Amino acid sequence: MKDSHPAIVSAEVFDKVQEEMAKRARLVSNEDGTAEISRSKYSGKYLLGNLLVCGDCGASYRRRTEQGKVAWRCATRIEKGKEACSHSPTLDEGWVQDALGAALCQNGAYDEGMVRNEVDKILVFDAYILIFRADGSKDKRSFRND
Ligand SMILES: [Zn+2]
Repeated sequence: MKDSHPAIVSAEVFDKVQEEMAKRARLVSNEDGTAEISRSKYSGKYLLGNLLVCGDCGASYRRRTEQGKVAWRCATRIEKGKEACSHSPTLDEGWVQDALGAALCQNGAYDEGMVRNEVDKILVFDAYILIFRADGSKDKRSFRND
């Protein structure tokens, strides 16, 4: 009896500790799991940087601020010059957002959360962009070349 009493108590404590650890482990993994998923799919600072791909050379588009305007341009063109990727256009960020809003959002206003959920990739060609949606459909949006 002298030996069994502390053993019972410690077994109860042990169970409680196990239960508590399991609870915390679940909570931690839920929170971390959700954050991990969104981090692995979207690594960059800007959503559009993860979506815009040059239709000419396959490089990602990069965000640039030029003369107070925000523009997106093929990374190859930025790093190696116009000769390395001669057909890729520079996109005005406002135009991209308007085009996505018109294509995806019911009220036509750009909604980053909706774009994040519904767009897999955007291919950029010399006169239009092709929006590849998560459901497998595509939207083509033309722009004017000035
Ligand atoms: Zn390119």
